[in-house]
Amino acid sequence: MKCPRKRYRRYRQARLAGTRGRDYPLEHACYHSLRKNARKANSRHRARYRLMRLGLVSIGDHRVIHHRNGNALDNRRSNLAILSSAAHRGHHRAQHAR
Ligand SMILES: [Zn+2]
Repeated sequence: MKCPRKRYRRYRQARLAGTRGRDYPLEHACYHSLRKNARKANSRHRARYRLMRLGLVSIGDHRVIHHRNGNALDNRRSNLAILSSAAHRGHHRAQHAR
C-alpha cells in the first residue's frame, strides 16, 4: 500500500485525541516502511541488545531502554536509561500532557 497521506493525517489526529484504535497496515505504509523510521527502530533494538549483553535487562523484565536526549540513534551509554515500563510511560505522558 502506498501511503494515503490525507487519511494518515486524519488518523494521526484521531490517535492523538484517543478516539481511534490502531490501524497497523496504515502505520506500516506511512511510518514503519520509511527508511529513516526503520533505522531508528533498528537502533532501539541495538540499544536494548547491548544492555542485555551487559546483563542489565533481560527478556520479559518489563523494563524499557529510554533515550535521555530523545534521539534514538544516539546509543552512547550516557544517553541510555533503564526504566520500568510504567515509569517510562509516565515520563512520556507528562511530555505530551494535554
Ligand atoms: Zn523514552
